[in-house]
Amino acid sequence: MNFNIAVIPGDGIGPEVVDESIKVLSKIGEKYNHNFEFEFLQAGGCAIDSLGTPLPDKTLEVCKKSDAVLLGAVGGPKWDDPNAKVRPEQALLGLRGGLNLYCNLRPALLYKALKEASPLKDTIIGDGIDICVVRELTGGIYFGERGREVVDGVVSAYDTERYNIKEIERIVRIGFDTAMKRNKKLTSVDKANILESSRLWRSVVEEMSKDYPEVEVNHLYIDNASMQLVKDPRQFDVIVTSNMFGDILSDEASMITGSIGMLPSASLGEGTLGMYEPIHGSAPDIAGKGIANPLATILSTAMMLRYSFNLEDEAKDIENAVVKVLEEGYRTGDIKSEGTTLVGTKEMGDLVVERI
Ligand code: NAD
Repeated sequence: MNFNIAVIPGDGIGPEVVDESIKVLSKIGEKYNHNFEFEFLQAGGCAIDSLGTPLPDKTLEVCKKSDAVLLGAVGGPKWDDPNAKVRPEQALLGLRGGLNLYCNLRPALLYKALKEASPLKDTIIGDGIDICVVRELTGGIYFGERGREVVDGVVSAYDTERYNIKEIERIVRIGFDTAMKRNKKLTSVDKANILESSRLWRSVVEEMSKDYPEVEVNHLYIDNASMQLVKDPRQFDVIVTSNMFGDILSDEASMITGSIGMLPSASLGEGTLGMYEPIHGSAPDIAGKGIANPLATILSTAMMLRYSFNLEDEAKDIENAVVKVLEEGYRTGDIKSEGTTLVGTKEMGDLVVERI
C-alpha cells in the first residue's frame, strides 16, 4: 500500500528523533511491502527564521492532503520572548485547529525493563502501568471566551469552559472505542459536583454507555482522579476527559512512567488523518549532541500505523522491537541505570530497526 506522510522535524532534537523514526518506517515498508512517501515541511522556530511565520501555508496545505503527519518538536530559547508576535507553539495550535484534530491519545506505559525509572514504589507499580488518556483537544476553557475588564475599579479576568453536546459525544465515543480495543474499562473524569459543563459531559457518558455494554464505566472528579493516579494507577485502563483536565492528567500519567523520552502521542480527528508526535519538547539542552532518546517518536510512528493506516501487525512489530531493545539492556542517557549499555540516538534507532 502507498502512504503519504508529511514530516515536520521542527527544532532542537526534533530532526534527530524524526530521522530515526523514518529509518524505522522505511524498514517496516521493506518488510511488509508498503511504500511510505515522506514530504519534509517546516514549522516552528525554524520556519519563523526562514519564512517569518511558525506555520507556513504550504505546510498546512500539504498536511491536509497527506495520510498522516509526523512531528518532532518545536520551540527553543531563541524564540522564547513572551512578547514576540510569532511563537513556535502557534504552529501546534494551527495544525491541531487546521486539521480539526479534536482528540489527543496519550498512552502512558511503564515498561517492565524501566521499572526503576518510575517515582512510584514497587508495591504500587506491581507488574506494570498501562493507561491511555483520551483528551479533548479543540474545545473547553482553552478555546472559550476570555477577557479582562474593570469592575468597580478592580481589574478582573475570565475564561469560559463551554462544551456543546456534539463535541462531548465525539470525544467520549473515542474513549469507548479505545476501551473496546484495550481492557474494556473507561474512567470519565469531570467536576460534575460543581460545573454545569461537567454535568452535561457525565450525562453523555451515561447515555453512550448503553451502546457499549461490555465496557465497565466509572466517573471520578478531577481532584480524586489526580490522587488515584499516584495512589493506585493500576485501576485505570482508559481515561476520557476534557481539554484542561486532560492536559494536567496526561502529564501526571506520563510522569509516573518516569521517562519523558519514551512516550508517544496521537492527535486524531474525524477521518483517518492524524498527527503523531512524542510528548516531549525540543530539549534544547541536549540538541545536536546525538544523545536524545528517539523511542517516543519511534513509538509515535507505531501509533500512526495503528490509527491512521490500520496496520496493527506492523505497529506491534515496532512496539515489540522497542521492548526487545530495552530488555537487552540498551539505554539512552535519560533512561540509563546501572548495569545497562549507554547508546546514542542513531544507535538506538539502528537497534530497533535490526529487531524488526
Ligand atoms: P522538553 O521536553 O523539551 O525537555 C525537558 C527535559 O527532558 C530536558 O532536560 C530534556 O533534555 C529532557 N528530554 C526531553 N526529551 C528528551 C528525549 N527525547 N531524550 C532525552 N531527554 C529528553 O521540555 P522543555 O525544556 O520544557 O521545553 C523545551 C522547548 O520545547 C520549549 O521551547 C517548549 O516550548 C518546547 N515544547 C515543545 C513541545 C512540542 O513541540 N510538542 C512540547 C513541549 C515543549
